[in-house]
Order: sequence, then structure tokens, then C-alpha cells
Amino acid sequence: MNCKSCGNTHQENFCPNCGEKKFHPGQLSLKHFVEETFEGFIHFDSKFFYTLKTLITKPGQLSLDYAEGRRIRSMRPVQFFLIINLLFFFLIMGHNLYSLSLDNYISYRPFTNYNTRQIIKEKLAESKTTTNEYKHLFNEKITTESKEFIFLFIPFYGFIFYLLFFWKQKYFTTHLSFAAHFISFVLLWNLVSFWLITVPFYLITKVSYSEDFDSLVSLLTAIIIATYVAIAIRRFYKPHTFVAVLVALGIGATYFSFIQYYRMALFFKIVYWS
Ligand SMILES: [Zn+2]
Repeated sequence: MNCKSCGNTHQENFCPNCGEKKFHPGQLSLKHFVEETFEGFIHFDSKFFYTLKTLITKPGQLSLDYAEGRRIRSMRPVQFFLIINLLFFFLIMGHNLYSLSLDNYISYRPFTNYNTRQIIKEKLAESKTTTNEYKHLFNEKITTESKEFIFLFIPFYGFIFYLLFFWKQKYFTTHLSFAAHFISFVLLWNLVSFWLITVPFYLITKVSYSEDFDSLVSLLTAIIIATYVAIAIRRFYKPHTFVAVLVALGIGATYFSFIQYYRMALFFKIVYWS
């Protein structure tokens, strides 16, 4: 049997040289044509749900599979992250912690500590726009840019994991894949906590903003992140449990500070570079 694509002689159903499927005229039937069209979608589905399930039920397993060459059943780490990212921004509908409106930046601490009010005042004077016009422009920009730049969390955390565990995994890409899975999990948790905790709370209490409630959700998020990372690190890098717990506590405790820096970086980028 000669492969129709590369000419290689073989007996298997798929060419061992190029992967082409063994051809027979039955594949030209209308039934096969329709089946083949939907096959792609179905495989995409099963791969996505398998990856999602493994991400949630076995922290660290996807990264381990990726690093050890078991790659056929799950999606590629960044590919999976991009889909989660898309779902996140679609399902959270603008109300998310990665993208704040200009009012937040000029009304609340810690943002006002960065002199945001003065900066906006100067920006308005210089660009000769009204406050409302600028608010509208700013809010539109931050909604788009927060989506585009959130992928930067992957190299950032990849580098942190590399610095902490380069003696366990020598290839930088394995740390990147671990970071991509970690950030995917965090976005999923943000999505779940928004719809199952935050929305019901504000619907039931009918208050517009509660700092205590916000701190409580942040604390819960830090605990969830730390627990997840501890298990994932233990499974993937296999350090001493004490090391895994220590690193996980550090990551859980600092996540919100990094979001804070991310928010400020977006603010400065929008005000000065666009
Ligand atoms: Zn071939």
C-alpha cells in the first residue's frame, strides 16, 4: 500500500511517515463527507473537556503529561489558556478584576497613591477633552487591553516557577506550561466565584459595594489559589511537601499585589501610550 501523500509503503491505517489516513473510495461517499466535517468539532470538544476536567480534578497533571510526552489527549497549554481567556471575558461581561473603570482609578486607594487624579487632570488639560469623553475612551480601551495583556501573566509566572524550581525541571517551556495551567485555573475560579458568590451577594443584599465582602472574597481566592498551587507543585515538581506549601502560600498571598501592579501598568499604558 502506497501512501497517497508521501509515497511511503506501509500496512498501518495511518502512514507512519506523514500521518495520512489509508485511502479507499468509500471515503468519497456523502455519508463519510458529512461525518468527517463534524469529526473535527467533536474531537475538539472531547479534548477541551478532558483538559478542563484534568485541570480541575488533578492539579499539576496536565503539566506533567506535557513535560513527559503524553500529549495526544489534552490541548496544548497556551491553546487551552486562550480558550479559557476567551470564555472568561465573554462570560464575565466586563465586571472583572483585571479591568477597572477610570472612576475606580481616581476615587480609591491604592490607585490614588500613584497620583492618578493629578495625572488625569493633566491629561485632560493637554488633550482638551472633557472628563466624560475621556472616561468613555479610557474605559473602552481598558476593556480591550486587559484581555490582550492578561497572557503576560504566563511568562511572568513561568519565570517565577523557573527561578524556584529550575533544579527540578531544566526546560523553560515546562515552567511556561505549568504557568499557563495555573493562570487558566485562576481565571476559571474568578469566573465561578463571580457568578456563584459575588452576583448572588449583591442581588440579595442590594448594596452597591461592600469592602468587607470584597476582602472576604479576596481571602477565599487566596486560599483556593494557594491550595491548588500546593497540590500542583507537589505533583509536578515533586519537592518536599514543606517547600510546596511554602511556595504556595507565597503565591496565594501575592496574587492580588500582582493584579494591582497589572492594573497600574494598564493605567499608565493607556494614559501615556495610546
Ligand atoms: Zn505518508
